[in-house]
Amino acid sequence: MHIIEQASIKDLTTLRIGGRADKLFFPSTPEELISLLVELQDRGIKWSMLGGGSNLLVSSQGVGGAVISTSEMDWVNRVSPDAVVVGAGARLPKLAGQLAHMGLSGCEFMEGIPGSIGGAVVMNAGAHGHWTSNILEKVTLIDTHKGQVLSLTASQFDFGYRSSNIDPNRHVIVEAKFRLSDGMPDQIMDKMKQYRRQRTVSQPKGFSSGCIFRNPSMASPAGRLIDEMGFKGDKLGGAEISNIHANFILNSQGATSDQIIHLISRIQLKAWNTKNIWLQPEVYGMGNFTDEEKVIWLHPGIRDKELVNMSKYQLFGQVS
Ligand SMILES: Cc1cc2nc3c(=O)[nH]c(=O)nc-3n(C[C@H](O)[C@H](O)[C@H](O)COP(=O)(O)OP(=O)(O)OC[C@H]3O[C@@H](n4cnc5c(N)ncnc54)[C@H](O)[C@@H]3O)c2cc1C
Repeated sequence: MHIIEQASIKDLTTLRIGGRADKLFFPSTPEELISLLVELQDRGIKWSMLGGGSNLLVSSQGVGGAVISTSEMDWVNRVSPDAVVVGAGARLPKLAGQLAHMGLSGCEFMEGIPGSIGGAVVMNAGAHGHWTSNILEKVTLIDTHKGQVLSLTASQFDFGYRSSNIDPNRHVIVEAKFRLSDGMPDQIMDKMKQYRRQRTVSQPKGFSSGCIFRNPSMASPAGRLIDEMGFKGDKLGGAEISNIHANFILNSQGATSDQIIHLISRIQLKAWNTKNIWLQPEVYGMGNFTDEEKVIWLHPGIRDKELVNMSKYQLFGQVS
């Protein structure tokens, strides 16, 4: 297995932010992944899973312990005329293209989502009215608390809007099985092109993690709220709230994680104080954040109570 010591993580994220990890591992088979996790657990070494790094804010102060990249676990096996089993590290746009060539329809919405299957299952990635959970049949995952490899059906997960009950601190996705339908390759690719065009006009270019907040409701998208509160174009150091889509924070010039966190915090505070809306980050955190920084993942109702003992509360989407 390929291993890098003192690895810089920032280039493995779409936001291009993040310090070093003690060790970065690249398992390429389920067996390698399982024995790696067993070894890390036995030695008491903290680990974090890294997929496409497209929904991650990695601390500029680094990541203590091991980071496990799934980038070499990218197999795509057709197991029946309309079903494929895909490794956790397969990239969504590439997968959508491969399936289009096979005449399999259902993954077109993945075009333009720069994540991996593991990350897409964890947060039930979706676009254009389609969700990962709609086509998901089974997931093979490692429950590191139980020390078991489990094969679970999609109905066993509590999928919601950008959410599931998969805990990336505990569950490691190995592969997923998708049920698709027959389609004409040309028509599938036309659909993908249409989705790509829609993104080109609605989303900014540059380094980002996509939408930084979940939409508080479909009727009031986070981007519109942030725009109404006058944040578009605001900057802090190298971080900038996009002028094109206010729910995107861009790393336009060597931004650091604390600058992104400050902008997130400012937006959250104003939304809470003026609209009584809590904007929950969509982005997950990884690495050495301070308790003050971690509060962005904590509901203000809990945050405001005396001194927060972080370990007592579930942090929404926070990893470390
Ligand atoms: C330009 C842009 C556009 C985007 N558009 C969309 C969109 O339209 N719809 C949408 O839903 N999202 C969108 N995203 C966000 C992102 O691409 C998706 O959330 C994607 O599913 C994240 O997958 P990832 O592999 O990059 O996850 P990562 O960012 O690598 O990780 C996210 C979380 O999942 C965990 N994780 C990753 N792999 C595994 C695994 N194998 N097992 C267990 N845990 C794992 C990580 O530890 C982390 O907690 C966009 C992002 C960008 C940058």
